[in-house]
Amino acid sequence: MRKIDQPEFTAAEVFSTCISKVRNKDLKKRFQAVIPYITSAEEEYRKLATESKLYTFSDELCSNTNVTLEEMKAVYTQRMANSGGPGYETYNALKRGTINRTCPICGQRKVSTLDHYLPKTSYPSVVVTPINLIPACSDCNKIKLDDDPQTSEEETLHPYFDDLGSDRFLLAEIIKDNPPVVNFYIHPPVEWDKVLTEKVKNHFDSFKLNLLYSIHAIDEIVGQAEYWKQLNTKDLKDQLALQAESRRKAHPNSWQTAFYEGASQDDWFCSEGYKKFIE
Ligand SMILES: [Zn+2]
Repeated sequence: MRKIDQPEFTAAEVFSTCISKVRNKDLKKRFQAVIPYITSAEEEYRKLATESKLYTFSDELCSNTNVTLEEMKAVYTQRMANSGGPGYETYNALKRGTINRTCPICGQRKVSTLDHYLPKTSYPSVVVTPINLIPACSDCNKIKLDDDPQTSEEETLHPYFDDLGSDRFLLAEIIKDNPPVVNFYIHPPVEWDKVLTEKVKNHFDSFKLNLLYSIHAIDEIVGQAEYWKQLNTKDLKDQLALQAESRRKAHPNSWQTAFYEGASQDDWFCSEGYKKFIE
């Protein structure tokens, strides 16, 4: 759940590059005729994305022009995402648009593909539009396939448009179970509006981030437990609080920030609870 910078390429530039090696004269002519539609679709997309209203985006490209959905999808799959295609350089440049190749959707796994925020099966006019192409890990990309929002609240976060700033919204708690559980949850600041709050919660649930973060947190506990055993409870609490502060400065809503903060505040976890994860 991380904001990333918007790409500098325009949709018309990328589309023109992708169709630059089309040999069939009829197809090339038909593709060139859709460029103005692609530019206006990009403008409409930008406006709706800013208002969290992309679920209302209506795509009439194939009804208003002489290209088919299959031809448009192939511009992406064969001429952009394919290593032999003229758009492949742009495809790779977009994939590199995150910090340390981290997927902005989950904030954990590494980028391996581009995800169409509005899917290419239904939205031909934005099939190669850079602001619709999110660098993503393959797991987030696959989960996204089922997504069909009908309201702003049902949308997931858009990494090019949704800026959550430095507000803390991801927290974690230790649940005394057998075995114990690290539970992550969304606790938005009171000043957030309802749409943003619901959108973040929906994003967190849709991409199954609690499960992802819990698994990583348990790995962390197992890896650190022998070291923690050398510390008394107070020193361990202090160490975990220092870790939380360091992690918070790196990223306020990483699972590590939430985990270390939650763990440092839990007396049971710091005295004996962490040992239950390795028994
Ligand atoms: Zn991901």
